[in-house]
Amino acid sequence: MAYLGDPKRTIEILNKYHIVFQKKFGQNFLIDTHVLDKIIAAAQITKDDMVLEIGPGIGTMTQYLCENAGKVIAVEIDRTLVPILENDTLSEYDNFRIINEDVLKLDLKKLIEEENGGRPIKVAANLPYYITTPIVMKLLEERLPIDNITVMVQKEVAERMQAGPGSKDYGALSLAVQYYADAYIAANVPPNCFMPRPNVGSAVIRLTLHSEPPVKVRDEKLMFALIRASFNQRRKTLQNGINNSPELNFSKESVSSALQQMDLPETVRGEALTLEQFAKLSDLLKS
Ligand code: SAM
Repeated sequence: MAYLGDPKRTIEILNKYHIVFQKKFGQNFLIDTHVLDKIIAAAQITKDDMVLEIGPGIGTMTQYLCENAGKVIAVEIDRTLVPILENDTLSEYDNFRIINEDVLKLDLKKLIEEENGGRPIKVAANLPYYITTPIVMKLLEERLPIDNITVMVQKEVAERMQAGPGSKDYGALSLAVQYYADAYIAANVPPNCFMPRPNVGSAVIRLTLHSEPPVKVRDEKLMFALIRASFNQRRKTLQNGINNSPELNFSKESVSSALQQMDLPETVRGEALTLEQFAKLSDLLKS
């Protein structure tokens, strides 16, 4: 088996099929076997698992997934890559299926139902960086049966996903990730592990989904609207952020009173609040 983690083999395939990297699809192919081993280990994949891979490219990570998982379903937007995967780089594997689609448009609940009887799956990907957040938020918000999501993302994004209150990276993405999952950065990956090299550093992050959210909140949508409002205007106080938000309609008095009940000063900024505090604030404003 010729593994694409070996740069020579990747170059061979690129030349054989005259592949031109599609920047608009965020194509940076992995060419480092150590990184591939780390992703497989972090994802804790076994032969009992069905894995959904987003963006297989020419099949570099897919080869590893096919060898370690029971079944692999890969979703690739670039249709020119489909015959290369099916007839060449993955032709040896019979536990693999490719779907030529935009993952953001796919009904994943239905797919997991059809392909895995609705049982929890694992997700693994070297994500296209131009749509990292929409993909991760789709996987989290749709409440899909997923055990864990192990993905390569831009290093800064991994840091934002894992950040806590008070840190400069803390924001709406950190709180959303915390609400749905436990985040763990498994590896930092330099640009020279990819072809072509991206201009940014990368990291592998694993999100292990909670069976229940760590906080109880009466109106999840309201809590996330409050979180968005408070981080939209970082330099402003939480009070002003909420009052200026087009999504929300609370009087200054009701926000002040809620902050008082939580023993928070009127000048507090959103970045100081924990997820529990946002949940409490949301419940107070709701009542
Ligand atoms: N997995 C390969 C690897 O590690 O070498 C390729 C990773 S590359 C960073 C991202 C892949 O996602 C590309 O193959 C790209 O065509 C694909 N892609 C981009 N946007 C997509 C979308 N909306 N839905 C599905 N795949 C997409």
